Amino acid sequence: MTDDLLEDAERRFEDACRAAHLSEDTKERMRRPETSLKVSIPVRMDDGTLQTFAGYRVRYDSTRGPAKGGVRFHPSVSAAEVTTLAFWMTFKTAVMDLPFGGGKGGVAVDPKQLSAAELERLARGYTAAIADVIGPDLDVPAPDVATNEMVMGWMAHEYAKIERSHQPAVLTGKPLALGGIPGRSTATSDGAFHVIKQLQERVLSGIDSPTAAIQGFGNAGAQLATLLDDAGWRVIAVGDSAVTIHDADGLDIDVVRKHKDETGSLADCPVGEELDRDAVLTVEVDALIPAALEGAIHADNARDIRARVIFEVANGPVTADADGLLDEAGIEIVPDILTNAGGVTVSWFEWCQNRQGDRWTLETVKRRLEERMVTETTFIADLASDREIPLRTAAYVHALERLTAAIDATGTSDTFGVQVR
Ligand code: GLU
Repeated sequence: MTDDLLEDAERRFEDACRAAHLSEDTKERMRRPETSLKVSIPVRMDDGTLQTFAGYRVRYDSTRGPAKGGVRFHPSVSAAEVTTLAFWMTFKTAVMDLPFGGGKGGVAVDPKQLSAAELERLARGYTAAIADVIGPDLDVPAPDVATNEMVMGWMAHEYAKIERSHQPAVLTGKPLALGGIPGRSTATSDGAFHVIKQLQERVLSGIDSPTAAIQGFGNAGAQLATLLDDAGWRVIAVGDSAVTIHDADGLDIDVVRKHKDETGSLADCPVGEELDRDAVLTVEVDALIPAALEGAIHADNARDIRARVIFEVANGPVTADADGLLDEAGIEIVPDILTNAGGVTVSWFEWCQNRQGDRWTLETVKRRLEERMVTETTFIADLASDREIPLRTAAYVHALERLTAAIDATGTSDTFGVQVR
C-alpha cells in the first residue's frame, strides 16, 4: 500500500515534468530524499514494562529553505509513507512560495492506546532521537494526523532542554503560551475555505447552496464543516473512522461537532441517519471533501463517486489511478498541495514570529493567509485554463518552476542540500 503511495507520487511527478520546462538536474535531484532517519524510541509504560516504537524523520529537499512538515502518530506510519509525505511537502511549500523545503516525520503507534503520560514520554523520546536532524534552519516539524499543540509543546520543551536554550522556531503549531501563533489550529480549514470560495464559480457555477460531504471529522474536517455551513452550504454527510452520518437536507453541524467532542466518535449521533463508514464517499453531492488519510479514493471506488468536484483536504486522498477515472467522469479535483496549504502557511508566520521575537495578531494572520491563498489559487486556476491541464498538474507545474529555479541557482556542483551536523 505505502509502496504504491511512493509510486503514485512519482507518476504524478513525471506527469508534471512533462508539462513543465524542467532541467534534468531537478528531475535527478527529486528522485531521492536528502536524508532519511529511522529511530527506535523506548518508552516506559505506566505498568512498568518497556515498549519500543519505530519513528522516522525524512528531509526530502531543502534547496528553497529548511525542510518543513508535520509529525504524525498513527499505526500506518512507515518509511515509505513518511518519505511520500515529505515529497509532497516539498511541492506544497513551493506552491505557496514559502521559504522552506519539504520534510515529514512520524511514529508508528496507535495514540488512542496510550495514556497521556505515555504519550508525553513518547513525544519527548522521539524529539531526543531526531534532535540532530531538526532545527530552526534545518528542518522544522509541526502537527499532523493525531498530533496537536500539546504534543508540539512537549517536543519544543524537550528540544530546548537538549539545546540548553530557547529555540521556539524549531517547530510550529505550539501552544500560544510557548510562542505559538493565533489562528494556527484553524489554519488548514481557513485556507481550504479560501480555496473553495475562490474556485466555486469555476467548479460549481450556478449552484446557490451547494452540498458537501466530508470524510474525516478531525481538526480540519470539523472546522471546515462549520465554515461551509455558515456560508450557506448544506453539509449533507460527514464520516469518521466509525460511521457516516447523513441528512439530505443538511446536518446540524453544531450538534454533530458537540457529539464528536463529547464521545470521540460520530457513532450514535442524535441527528442524521447512520450509514456505514465508507458511504460518505459515494453520496450524491456537489463537493466531496476527503479530509482523513491518503488513498481514500482509489481505482476500486472511483467509479462510485457522485460528486462534481473533489477538494483534497487530506494529503494524497486520491490515488493516481483514480485521478484518471475521475477525469473521465468529468469530476474536477482541487489538489491537496493547494487546498490544505493553509496549515503550513500559518506555520511559516509562526516561524517568522518566533525568529523576530514578535507577537502577531489574529487579524494579521487571517489577512495574510487569505492573501497568500487567493494569490496562489488564482494563479493555478489561470494556468490550468491557459494550458488546458488539470488543476493538479497546474499546481505541480507552478511548484516545479519555483523549485527548478532554486535548484538551477545553486549551480552545478554535486553537493546536495545542507549537510547534517
Ligand atoms: N501537517 C501539515 C501539512 O501536511 C502542516 C505542516 C506544517 O505546518 O509544517 O501540511
